Amino acid sequence: MGSPVCILESIFLKRSQQKRKTSPLNYKKRLFVLTESKITYYEYDFEKGRRGSKKGSVDLEKVVCVECVEPEENPPPERQILQKEEFADTEQISIIGRFPYPFQIVYDEGPLYVFSPTEELRRRWINQLKLIVRFNSDLAQKFHPQFHQDGQYLCCAQTAKNALGCQVLRNANGILKSEHSRRSQKPLPPAPAEVKSTKPLPPPPSTTPSTCCKVVALYDFTPISAQDLPLCKGEEYLLLDEGSGQPWLRARNKNGQEGYIPGNYVTEAQDPLEIYEWYSKNMTRSQAEDLLRAEDKEGGFIVRDSSKAGKYTVSVYAKSSGEGFIRHYVVCETPGHQYYLAEKHVFSSIPELITYHQYNAAGLISRLKYPVCSVKCAPSTAGLGYGSWEIDPKDLTFLKELGNGQFGVVKYGKWRGQYEVAIKMVKEGSMSEDEFINEAKCMMKLSHQNLVQLYGVCTKQRPIFIITEYLSNGCLLSYLKEFRPRLNQADLLSMCSDVCSAMSYLESKQFLHRDLAARNCLVAEDGTVKVSDFGLSRYVLDDEYTSSLGSKFPVRWSPAEVLLYSKFSSKSDVWSFGVLMWEVFTFGKMPYERFNNSEIVEQIMKGVRLYRPQLATERVYSLMLSCWEEKPDDRPAFRVLQGAILEIMEDM
Ligand code: ADP
Ligand code: MG
Repeated sequence: MGSPVCILESIFLKRSQQKRKTSPLNYKKRLFVLTESKITYYEYDFEKGRRGSKKGSVDLEKVVCVECVEPEENPPPERQILQKEEFADTEQISIIGRFPYPFQIVYDEGPLYVFSPTEELRRRWINQLKLIVRFNSDLAQKFHPQFHQDGQYLCCAQTAKNALGCQVLRNANGILKSEHSRRSQKPLPPAPAEVKSTKPLPPPPSTTPSTCCKVVALYDFTPISAQDLPLCKGEEYLLLDEGSGQPWLRARNKNGQEGYIPGNYVTEAQDPLEIYEWYSKNMTRSQAEDLLRAEDKEGGFIVRDSSKAGKYTVSVYAKSSGEGFIRHYVVCETPGHQYYLAEKHVFSSIPELITYHQYNAAGLISRLKYPVCSVKCAPSTAGLGYGSWEIDPKDLTFLKELGNGQFGVVKYGKWRGQYEVAIKMVKEGSMSEDEFINEAKCMMKLSHQNLVQLYGVCTKQRPIFIITEYLSNGCLLSYLKEFRPRLNQADLLSMCSDVCSAMSYLESKQFLHRDLAARNCLVAEDGTVKVSDFGLSRYVLDDEYTSSLGSKFPVRWSPAEVLLYSKFSSKSDVWSFGVLMWEVFTFGKMPYERFNNSEIVEQIMKGVRLYRPQLATERVYSLMLSCWEEKPDDRPAFRVLQGAILEIMEDM
């Protein structure tokens, strides 16, 4: 077994966790090491520059929240912020011994307070940690922005260390930048959670529990099934049970009407920027520039997430003597949480700031005249309305044939004349149908913006149909070949990131894909890539496909342990992901082009690997190589890969 991969390693100041009330607080320099499953801290011998004995660790599974802590009132010199000029490199600073940037890792025992020497390093750790814990089951919705000190939280005076947080988290669901596609995409509602219908009805309005949580609709939603509640973008709704994380949530609108809403259509954030047309959450600098240029309007602007976590950038387009040019302004924040672009004009929220600059240039190259946005359509819901996974074939209209696959013909059509769907008509004898139908209920609950959503099945007739989300740009493999001239390195990496994001979700659900490859990914209207056909290979009735010696077995995407012992795991999916990255960076070349299946097995066993595609940088190629480590345990988990891909994207 390989030892766990070290993701980050830094020297921080650690505040004692004061197991006994009487002991005074102390602060010690420790070497913190982050792996996939743990944070471990060690003594550090500065003279020898070596790790000393282990002092403690936190299981990441138990972590419920990772956030900054507001700075202390009057910190001693070692925790005071240095003047900018004194900044040397991180290592130098940790040796000087200033650690002014605190953050908290909250788990069942309360918060662990850690102090970072630089803001940048704190951001990296927080981002990486959030990424790893984002699917933990007990993530907190609220946190304490200030320290627990002298027996109480400075922010709310609660005494218990594990007291419920007093401030709502902006990203309560642990949703990170990359979680939404860079160009917002179309969700359909979440999967009919069968279990839910057996739950008792929520209490009548008068007895609503006080734990109700408010959400804001990010998109309009028109009910699909009779139990659904419509949503109006920007309006508030009250959640009626604690199903958060479930694809369908029971909610009440301001008129007291109740019903189910798709969980991915709402946010707990108080004033979500997503509802404004000028906000494009995950747009990169170069995507923003492309859009602004294409629009070519004086005063065109986009507000987007800055590459610095938690910050926003306003990109503005102006023209002088016919020539267009672009400026990017970072939205600055005062210590009192006010926002400004031009120092003289300070606002308590970003929408207010934007409104002001829509009328006043006040130092910008142009006032903000035209919000430029990529088409924002709502995401897919899991299933067509709450509680419906058996679909009535009479509700389907068949419009055209999309292709032919392992299970037969796939058609494009509409459900109830309105919702676009893809329909797999399962050729008789090609699938173990009963087993699939059994599993389908579980697969419907898998819901992620980079997974092709399963909407339901028609099983009362033969052939049976599998109804899924429709993606207008078709199969990724053909897309790569066709759009090769238009795709740059950033696009390719972003495709890999989309797939990796879906795969880390599947990994967190312990669901194996078993046939990950570019041919099993689809491309949405806006270029987002989604993973399709997950787990389906288990139901194929065709020895050529299911036996590793068969002619249709994905030998080129499989690691040795699969080829030799049929040992599938998340780590065999990781191997396939490496090959998929290679397909992406070669615009859809056939892996090991010149070899036949049996030669490939031989080559793999000898340690031969796919070459570095021209467009893949050393950094990108080293990720591929890490997926092709011989021992499954030496390959990184998807969530780690995801972090690495995001870092490369940020540095581009
Ligand atoms: P199978 O999984 O049965 O082998 P595929 O999923 O490969 O079948 O489907 C065959 C072809 O149909 C694909 O290559 C793709 O072009 C098209 N297709 C399949 N599903 C969809 C979908 N959801 N949206 C758009 N096109 C699709
Ligand atoms: Mg397929």
